Amino acid sequence: MRDYIKRVLIALIMALCVSLLFLGGKHSEASMKEDKEVKDGWIWPADGVISDTYGTRMGKHKGIDIAGKLNTPVLAVEDGKVEKSYYSNTYGNVVFIKHPSHFVTVYAHLNKRNVYKGQIIKQGTVIGKMGKTGQATGTHLHFETHQQEWRYDKKFALDPEKILGKAETGETVQGGIASRVDDVLEASTHIKLLNEDKAIVKKKQYIVRQGDTLYSISRTSNISVNRIKELNHLSTDLIKPNQILKVK
Ligand SMILES: [Zn+2]
Repeated sequence: MRDYIKRVLIALIMALCVSLLFLGGKHSEASMKEDKEVKDGWIWPADGVISDTYGTRMGKHKGIDIAGKLNTPVLAVEDGKVEKSYYSNTYGNVVFIKHPSHFVTVYAHLNKRNVYKGQIIKQGTVIGKMGKTGQATGTHLHFETHQQEWRYDKKFALDPEKILGKAETGETVQGGIASRVDDVLEASTHIKLLNEDKAIVKKKQYIVRQGDTLYSISRTSNISVNRIKELNHLSTDLIKPNQILKVK
């Protein structure tokens, strides 16, 4: 009898091992796919202070507002293609970007637009300058995220902070930097974003600002000067504002 129990136990353990192997394989396959689709994570589109969040104004505010200085560079949050770049009475100067993930991002009230329809752009490209054109009180970027196409009823709008990370009104955000992502998002049928493995989007890029040196960046990004030069194929220590550096 004891022999029998032993045999059953061994069989159970073996079955468990096999299923773990199987599940393990499945899991890594899945996360590899997500990595490819989500790439490096989004970056904040501009320097400034969060002045309004998603869903305010009786649910009518379908984006977030980042208040800042006039002509603050506005960056593409991810690689993509410019779908629209025009002037609208409400949005003012506005740029729409379609991303490989099928998301569409909208950058409104720009003082200047730097990109044209159909242009292929990289994450971090300066697509315009912050302003207050259209229906805007005060200089700010109104930023929207749509899981599929933009529609007049904004049916596919999603809180951008679900991807960029949570930021409260009054909080300062830094353009070009990917922040911590707290929310798990499984809303899109196209992509499944941010599982536990992706809970922290690592800061892989740094946008150079006035007064930065390779040394100061190396300290804030916790990487050596030589490594930054190597990653970015820099032959000298010269860097210029708005230059995007790999820091990982
Ligand atoms: Zn707004």
